Amino acid sequence: MSSNKFSRRSFIRTSSIGIGALALGPALSSLAASSKPGKKLGIALVGLGYYSSGQLAPALQHTENCYLAGIVTGTPAKAVTWAKQYNIPQKNIYNYQNFDEIAHNPDIDIVYVVLPVFLHKEYTIRAAKAGKHVICEKPMALNAKDCEEMIAACKKADRLLSIGYRLHFEPHNMEVMRLGQQHIFGKVTKIDTGNGFTYNGDPNAWRLKKALAGGGGLMDMGIYSIQGSRYTLGQEPIAVKATQEKTKPELFKDVDETVFWELEFPGGFKTTGKSSYNHDWSYLKVEEEHGKFEIGPAYGYGGIDGSVNGKQMSYPQMVQQAAQMDDFVKCVNQNKQSRVPGEEGLKDMKVVDAIYRSLDSGKWEKIG
Ligand code: NAD
Repeated sequence: MSSNKFSRRSFIRTSSIGIGALALGPALSSLAASSKPGKKLGIALVGLGYYSSGQLAPALQHTENCYLAGIVTGTPAKAVTWAKQYNIPQKNIYNYQNFDEIAHNPDIDIVYVVLPVFLHKEYTIRAAKAGKHVICEKPMALNAKDCEEMIAACKKADRLLSIGYRLHFEPHNMEVMRLGQQHIFGKVTKIDTGNGFTYNGDPNAWRLKKALAGGGGLMDMGIYSIQGSRYTLGQEPIAVKATQEKTKPELFKDVDETVFWELEFPGGFKTTGKSSYNHDWSYLKVEEEHGKFEIGPAYGYGGIDGSVNGKQMSYPQMVQQAAQMDDFVKCVNQNKQSRVPGEEGLKDMKVVDAIYRSLDSGKWEKIG
């Protein structure tokens, strides 16, 4: 795909390959039509924008342990469309003013926060206080301090918190975790990763406002590159040095466009990563002493591919979000921490905070 044609919309198209392929199965249409969820837990999506409508609601037609039980929206017209499309009863539809009444709704077990980043903290805390378990989209919050408040609020309410890190349930990425963390070909000697797309959307969107998004490509796409290094090694970085490039200062006047960084891990090992709203990147390349492996596209919703020592990986495409939500339900039922808990989002935000400090100082900055 040529870079100037790439946009979030084409990212959606590429990504929907996985869902599209699966959506043909007969079992799924019966699931979609199911109005008797049985013991499935009910999920309410908060914020019905691009990700909820294009990915999560469709994925909830593929889940085994949960279903789309409710919605929270500020747009009455969306409430009507969604109620009809997904058979959602009026009593399970909320707006941002009456959201806290969700506490009294036994149909809703889990609240999934799919709002602009600046609202993640508020709605995660309100959901936990309402007695609901919470999944919050990435990036977890505007900064690490907010992440800590969210984790504390969920602990206090005795509710589980998970971050929408779907790639922890995706087989190519899981294989990279195994090969890296278990040193299958010896010590890891090199990691390079990048994630980005060419933003050609609304110049006034919340994504381009620092107060609402926390930053630009780094917050939105860089989170995946940071995750990639962290889950390949299974270690936490201790310091970072970052630089940036801005070729469209008018569009990205308030947020970062392209950021490059080096992460230092305990023992001095360094990885390279990058993020962008102006380059189409999606790869994770790893070298070990006696072998190498890579994935690319690495971080989308579908079409993920990769190789190990030059041999193509042969994992199926799957609905990552369905696996992610089903797994969280298992955690809720077993009262155990998700493999992607709030603490995982916090670790990434500590790295992000340090990258922004390094961009300001021009120096290596400690993480955490
Ligand atoms: P979006 O702009 O399409 O949708 C955001 C929704 O929030 C809209 O429906 C909007 O009406 C609503 N909203 C409520 N209050 C708002 C306010 N004050 N300002 C602006 N919007 C408000 O965004 P999106 O792409 O759906 O992203 C939502 C979240 O999902 C973000 O955190 C994003 O990072 C995350 N996301 C995750 C993935 C993933 O792969 N995990 C992919 C895309 C987006």
